[in-house]
Amino acid sequence: MKVLSSPEEIYAQLDFLRRQGNRIGLVPTMGALHDGHLSLVREAKRECDIAVTTIFVNPSQFGPNEDFAKYPRTLDSDLEQLSAIGCDFVFVPSNDHIYPPGHTTFIEPPAVAANWEGKIRPGHFRGVATIVLKLFNMLPARVAYFGRKDYQQVAVISAMVRDLNVPILIQPCETVREPDGLAMSSRNRYLSAADRVRAIGLWHALSKAQSMIDDGFRNVAQIESAMREILNKVPVDSIDYAAIVDPESMEPRTDLDSPVVAIIAARVGTTRLIDNSLLRIQ
Ligand code: AMP
Repeated sequence: MKVLSSPEEIYAQLDFLRRQGNRIGLVPTMGALHDGHLSLVREAKRECDIAVTTIFVNPSQFGPNEDFAKYPRTLDSDLEQLSAIGCDFVFVPSNDHIYPPGHTTFIEPPAVAANWEGKIRPGHFRGVATIVLKLFNMLPARVAYFGRKDYQQVAVISAMVRDLNVPILIQPCETVREPDGLAMSSRNRYLSAADRVRAIGLWHALSKAQSMIDDGFRNVAQIESAMREILNKVPVDSIDYAAIVDPESMEPRTDLDSPVVAIIAARVGTTRLIDNSLLRIQ
């Protein structure tokens, strides 16, 4: 496994491999790796000749009052895990490699970024879209793997790639969960033991939405209020949103005539958690 930090060096090596006919799969991450991240790398290994993981805690996607400074950084363990599953390249750039003095260009995110995370975290998707496009330009991959855990992020990146004609395939991958249903997240390590118990409330609320639909409920407002009721009963400390939205546009949905996504963002202790579930309609 090669670990490189210079964009020029990794571009040269990957470009050489690509020209020889190798299919390159890219997995962008911020490190503090868990099985959710590793599932993306395994998928890249399965579908491609070369798997490349990037580790960069991107300052431009954090708001001024968010957790950039204390975001977990566990590089040694990350590299061990990546090496154990056969990752071929790891790109670990410094801040200066990504944002050298004079860097002033940023991506204006697409419409699907406007609501939910985009509204609550102003500037977040501008930072995400910018770093992801930069990584796509630095690392000439054929396909990039993203987790559905960050559902809106996948929608934003897919729209950006479509709108800007970026020559890469976006492959969304299933959310990996703990045995009790909690979505794996680097931020779960902030949870105290008591918060960890409460954090499962997000999955219970999403599961309730599915079971109501299975039971024949077709009133979206009723399902949303049942999700909130579960979150309030846990209780979580605050709810940013608990909504049923369209899987493509992420606009609120009032009908259940075709599949929808239930999305939740809530704070448990000091930790902000997000999760979602694509709901089946019989
Ligand atoms: P992050 O390091 O949080 O920026 O995440 C890097 C990538 O891993 C993103 O595409 C995430 O959506 C994905 N990811 C994070 N958690 C999970 C999970 N539990 N299951 C699947 N993918 C995940």
